Amino acid sequence: MALFVLDIYLDCWKARFRIYSEERDVDTLQDPNKSAGRNDAGPRLGRFLIDGNWIEPSSGSVHLCTNPANGEVLGTLGEASTAELNAAVTAARRALDSGPWRNMLPNERARLLWRVADAIETNASELARLESLDQGQPLSLAMNMSVLGAAEHFRYFAGWCTKLDGRVPSVSRHDAMLYTRRVPVGVCGLITPWNFPLLIAAWKLAPALATGNTVVLKPAEQTSLTTLRLAELMHDVGIPRGVLNVITGAGPTGQAMTEHPGIDKISFTGSTAVGRSIVRASAGNFKRLSLELGGKAASVICPDADLNKIVPKNIANVINNAGQVCGALSRFYVHQSLHDEFVERAAAELSSVRVGAGLNKTSQMGPLNSVEHLERVDHMVKAAIAEGATPIVGGSRLDGIYASGSFYPPTMLEGVTEDMSVAREEIFGPVMPIMTYNDEEEVISRVNNSDYGLSASVWTENLARGHRLASHISAGAVRVNTVSGLDPAAPWGGMRASGWGREMGEEALEAYTEVKATWIGLE
Ligand code: ADP
Repeated sequence: MALFVLDIYLDCWKARFRIYSEERDVDTLQDPNKSAGRNDAGPRLGRFLIDGNWIEPSSGSVHLCTNPANGEVLGTLGEASTAELNAAVTAARRALDSGPWRNMLPNERARLLWRVADAIETNASELARLESLDQGQPLSLAMNMSVLGAAEHFRYFAGWCTKLDGRVPSVSRHDAMLYTRRVPVGVCGLITPWNFPLLIAAWKLAPALATGNTVVLKPAEQTSLTTLRLAELMHDVGIPRGVLNVITGAGPTGQAMTEHPGIDKISFTGSTAVGRSIVRASAGNFKRLSLELGGKAASVICPDADLNKIVPKNIANVINNAGQVCGALSRFYVHQSLHDEFVERAAAELSSVRVGAGLNKTSQMGPLNSVEHLERVDHMVKAAIAEGATPIVGGSRLDGIYASGSFYPPTMLEGVTEDMSVAREEIFGPVMPIMTYNDEEEVISRVNNSDYGLSASVWTENLARGHRLASHISAGAVRVNTVSGLDPAAPWGGMRASGWGREMGEEALEAYTEVKATWIGLE
């Protein structure tokens, strides 16, 4: 099967967090039920980075970090108090208003961000392994997408530091001229989710810092480890004190950030429900908001699609990070004429996916990130079956050696209708709800009849049809004959309930800057 599994050699990992009490070869972890090591938390784990210092949380240890492949505790995290959040915001404000950051030349800032990318690459094996342990990602995904992807974001935005140009608009007067500049928004609160903790932290941090802001970052309580390690690396390469502050905690800490009068902007990636509450909570000081929320990406399989090419790509997307991807294909519109063949081939590929612990080199798909999430996915699939859908592959939780982890099998559901929640709501699991259609206009209207508008894929050998569907589908990103579409240069974000604004690409510069107009009298 043409999946993206790569062999990675991870023989020299030296965990700075000392999560393991002993080094183990990844081959010994083939059985997800086997022990992945005892809890032996390291020096930075469970602390906050505030004003350049690693602070012990006053709350003590509140949240457990667990390995989703076997439920073992990896370490503990604190929940930031109001005083700790205030200290982080004060440090970020001070670093914004005075000190080396404010005076740093654009080319110096660029060099610093480039050094962050180098540090990520130098520590790539450790970071990939940590991400795999904490999030559940297969090592190949953790390395290639999360870790090396994070480095690429810092490099891409390092390049923008020296290119933040303004304009000289043609004002209709003789007595003055006008120029504009892009200036930082200020103190940015970055709130990240648990599906791609390191990558999403990087794609918020890199543009925020490239444009001269300072930040308070809160990773998701389920997956804070790689963010804390990244903060340590950034601190070590010389990001000035107060520019990057990291606190940990759950929803209440995130909410306190969104309400905080000292924070000028929130960039949030997470659920639509929380996004809605952030809009309300941030009204107090009119925070700027970037919201990347849920998605319900459609896969539209046209009558002329080449199944040899497209079936492996669709399956690779469904199982990518066990479906825990905002842009994951999660409703399939198959042209009636191809339905039987598509289902037969896709079911065969889906059934052969190797599920296992992320640290197992042969795993193509890891566990879901938590037991709570496993229950949510299981509940959605059960509800669809109760409403009349038929599981062709998977359809219930894995047991046996998988029972101690949060494993859910790749699942295909037939007989799905659009009134079922599995066809309308974000699943965030490796689930393929299959529907059929007969003509193009019908499928466009069904695809667009969704609260979400993040992304979609269209599969056709007809170029005109591909462009036509791409232009009529209402989503932030439409992919023709591909499921890829993530690149530091490519704007990413959605329409309607999928959120506000775009991350990455030149568009991210707008999200992290204000336009300032300066008038010069000429008389
Ligand atoms: P999910 O539902 O997929 O777990 P969430 O949207 O709840 O995702 O979480 C994404 C991030 O938002 C996490 O860092 C989480 O701690 C944070 N968060 C949760 N609730 C709130 C809130 N009310 N305000 C701000 N951040 C929140």
